[in-house]
Amino acid sequence: MARDESINPRAFRVHFAALGWANQIGHAEFGPGDLAQMLGIGYGRAADKAADKAVAAAKSMGLVGPDSGLRCLTLPGTMFQKGKGSVDCKYHGARIGQGAA
Ligand SMILES: [Zn+2]
Repeated sequence: MARDESINPRAFRVHFAALGWANQIGHAEFGPGDLAQMLGIGYGRAADKAADKAVAAAKSMGLVGPDSGLRCLTLPGTMFQKGKGSVDCKYHGARIGQGAA
């Protein structure tokens, strides 16, 4: 990984965003444009595109689940703490016990 120039440093910030905002089923939902803003990229379509790239990089590195996107980041059950937040995800239509990563 140390030599891999395709690694996007923003991917780690995506991971931290997922960790920080994940609910009890490991989903961190974001409003339109919110993730790009949170990653310090900014607002607008170009920012969303850059954020999307960061999410794709995080996915390829296994830092977030494969169904992650700009509107929701998912984490494997081993990576997040249970017991806080809601137990469902409106974006993925997932509830605790069904379809949680
Ligand atoms: Zn979700």
